[in-house]
Amino acid sequence: MKFPSLNVQIVLGAILGVAIGAYFHRIGVQHPVAASGLYVSGLIGTLFIDLLKMILIPLVFCSIAVGIANLRQHQQIHRVWVSTLLFFMFTMIIAITLGMTASNYFKPGAGLQIEMFAGAMQNFEARQLPLSEFFAQFLHGLFVNPFSALASGNVLAVVVFALIIGIALVMGGERYQNILKLLQEALEIIMRIVAWIMVLAPFGIAALLISLVSTQDLAMLSTLATFVAVVVGTTLLHGVVVLPLLMYAVTGHTPLWFWRGAREAIITALATSSSSATLPVTMRCATKHLHVKPEIAGFVVPLGATMNMDGTALYEAAAALFIANLVGVDLTFVQQLIVFVTAMLASVGAPGIPSAGMVTMVMVLQSVGLPAEAIAILLPIDRMLDTLRTAVNVEGDMITSIVVQKITAQKITA
Ligand code: ASP
Repeated sequence: MKFPSLNVQIVLGAILGVAIGAYFHRIGVQHPVAASGLYVSGLIGTLFIDLLKMILIPLVFCSIAVGIANLRQHQQIHRVWVSTLLFFMFTMIIAITLGMTASNYFKPGAGLQIEMFAGAMQNFEARQLPLSEFFAQFLHGLFVNPFSALASGNVLAVVVFALIIGIALVMGGERYQNILKLLQEALEIIMRIVAWIMVLAPFGIAALLISLVSTQDLAMLSTLATFVAVVVGTTLLHGVVVLPLLMYAVTGHTPLWFWRGAREAIITALATSSSSATLPVTMRCATKHLHVKPEIAGFVVPLGATMNMDGTALYEAAAALFIANLVGVDLTFVQQLIVFVTAMLASVGAPGIPSAGMVTMVMVLQSVGLPAEAIAILLPIDRMLDTLRTAVNVEGDMITSIVVQKITAQKITA
């Protein structure tokens, strides 16, 4: 019998994980079988994430520095930069528009009483995060001693330092050939290690999904059904229709082609709820299956994992409108515009880790005077929704790399 490919194994792992998780949920997590099952899946799931995180920082550093250096002529770097950032912004704007339009139409939360959640809100202390402070913090986090950033796993600061080194390599030209060669070889080795880690992926994904599904608070999910439906519906619309359609319009690649090449990364994102942890897999899919040139993927994908979050942007905007309905505040057009802009900033500033969007959402709420404590209502369902928004975040990074490759194709082939 032929052994199924890794791609198929990952899909099977995901299905099995959800099924076993649902079973454990049914028999109760205290049941001896479920308890020992959860212990084992906890071990395997953590091991998988640890391995991905182990390789993440060296990967981000080498791939961005090498990616930029390989773009060589300044003209090309400029084109890639500009088209990447514009496309990131464009898709985030569409995502937020979708989320806000649907929220205004369906008005989730309008029939619910805020008193229902008083208990949860009392126990929750929101950290103040006004826009000005958020911006100051963000700026402060960009330039950090590279050794400390590398050692502490500070992805954003590593991205920035790698960008600077990449540009210096380009400017230096022939002079720094040895360092460039060293980084190129390091990147090759890292991708080889990623391939080894992927052997564990089907088990890691199954294990993570078992833990996730078995511990879901389904009662809360049904209380907030309209809100969940709006978020899930619009996120799916963005991920399944809008993004693939944009890709098709620009590149002519079909959604099916994309799904085949991207599913390892999308399923890993679903299971880990972390764009950063998924990054090694995303890079592999972009370069190996979706045929994006390493210099483009090496630049676009890691940058996207830290900045480009369509799913998060959509969620933050929709959640702000939901909470406004819940507390009975009618947001004016200008206030909605403020939500729009802050949701975008908040998603750019959110690190690619589980539930990061929840933290930066405080800023969106405070920007229009909504009570940040209301986040407590969303926390119990956040892990569930985070799976989907992270998958769309990661999808957006891959699609951008394909689109940018196409847009800049004429010049890059040199
Ligand atoms: N978990 C998301 C990500 O890693 C961020 C978020 O919480 O929205 O992309």
